[in-house]
Amino acid sequence: VADEISTARALVTNARHVVVLTGAGISTASGIPDFRGPEGVWTKDPHAEMLSSFDVWRSDPEVRRRAWRARVARRDTVRQPNDGHRALVQLERDDRLDLLITQNIDGLHHLAGSNPQLIVEIHGSEREAVCLRCGARQAMAIVLDRVALGDDDPHCDNVLGGTACGGLLKSSTISFGQSLVATDLLRSERASQHADLLLAVGSTLSVYPIANVVPTAKRAGAQIVIVNGQPTEMDDLADVVVRDDITVALPALVAD
Ligand SMILES: [Zn+2]
Repeated sequence: VADEISTARALVTNARHVVVLTGAGISTASGIPDFRGPEGVWTKDPHAEMLSSFDVWRSDPEVRRRAWRARVARRDTVRQPNDGHRALVQLERDDRLDLLITQNIDGLHHLAGSNPQLIVEIHGSEREAVCLRCGARQAMAIVLDRVALGDDDPHCDNVLGGTACGGLLKSSTISFGQSLVATDLLRSERASQHADLLLAVGSTLSVYPIANVVPTAKRAGAQIVIVNGQPTEMDDLADVVVRDDITVALPALVAD
């Protein structure tokens, strides 16, 4: 691993236009379970994957009640960013980060201090709730307060033309069956076309279309560095694969 780290470090040091793609693996050290890893939520319980689909959310109030209750129950568990998230802030301070694309909905890149302008949360964020009818957004904490007070299937209270909207609320995350935000996807594609280095961290690179930024960057001539605890779908495209603990490897790649 030491050889791979020093090779990857040289590539990172020489790069001027870095695009980073992060997945669940960067947040597991912060206590957030991933979905597809060996201990993943969906690996152990395929039923959980079904429950996250958009159609089920819209059609089944019992699924919504259970999900809101679970959210309230875990709201007091404060998650903190780790050395992996913080290492990426260093990359930005060196003015070499063009875009930080994350598949994670946990907001930990924001908490670590990454510039929100440079972050694309391609699968949305659980820090906000959105109304599926009028599109109004609000802080998740406000909705969870309502749930905690007994409103177990909260609907939109945005007043439109004198009456409350009443639309379904949902975390502003992208569920299965929902489209990605087109501008986010376009921005990610463009950045990967102009990158001289694409750094993929903690992603199995098996979720499309966002995993396509790796072959896109490769075709445009970028170096590809993959840092992950397990093999990924795109290891054969990489110039260097660092298979190591992300909280150790990533700081080693970007340290001065
Ligand atoms: Zn609404």
